[in-house]
Amino acid sequence: MSSYGPTGAAADALEAAAASGSYRVCDAVVLVCLACASCLIILTVAVCFRRAFATGYAGAGGAGAGAASASRGSRCGLAPSALSAIPKLAYQRGAGAGPGCGWAQCAICLAVVRDGETVRLLPACGHLFHVDCIDLWLRSHATCPLCRRDVGGDAAAEKV
Ligand SMILES: [Zn+2]
Ligand SMILES: [Zn+2]
Repeated sequence: MSSYGPTGAAADALEAAAASGSYRVCDAVVLVCLACASCLIILTVAVCFRRAFATGYAGAGGAGAGAASASRGSRCGLAPSALSAIPKLAYQRGAGAGPGCGWAQCAICLAVVRDGETVRLLPACGHLFHVDCIDLWLRSHATCPLCRRDVGGDAAAEKV
């Protein structure tokens, strides 16, 4: 009557051992999976942030970091020959009377263009910018930064 006790206990112990063993294996697998997943997530987020920062700076036409990233990425940039074909001139404020008609602003660095500064006049739309500012922009874009019109028109479009 009292002989089935020990066997029952042994079975219990066996079961417990098996259970704990399988738990340990599961824990290890889960830990490895979690580590891999977190590594992947961190990598993806890092890449996304880098891309967002690069495009954001380039889009806003930032002066420092934007210039570096814009010159590195050479997508859809204007060819040097097409760039030099854009007329370059020394800005003259002009003798026009009338309020606001005598000055111009560079939309890239947001500074007022002063008399005698060298500017480029985009033939497609007539917008003008500092030579340094627009050259930097046109190395990675083929459009006017102000109105997005194609710079150089058909010639540039055919080349790309
Ligand atoms: Zn400028
Ligand atoms: Zn324009």
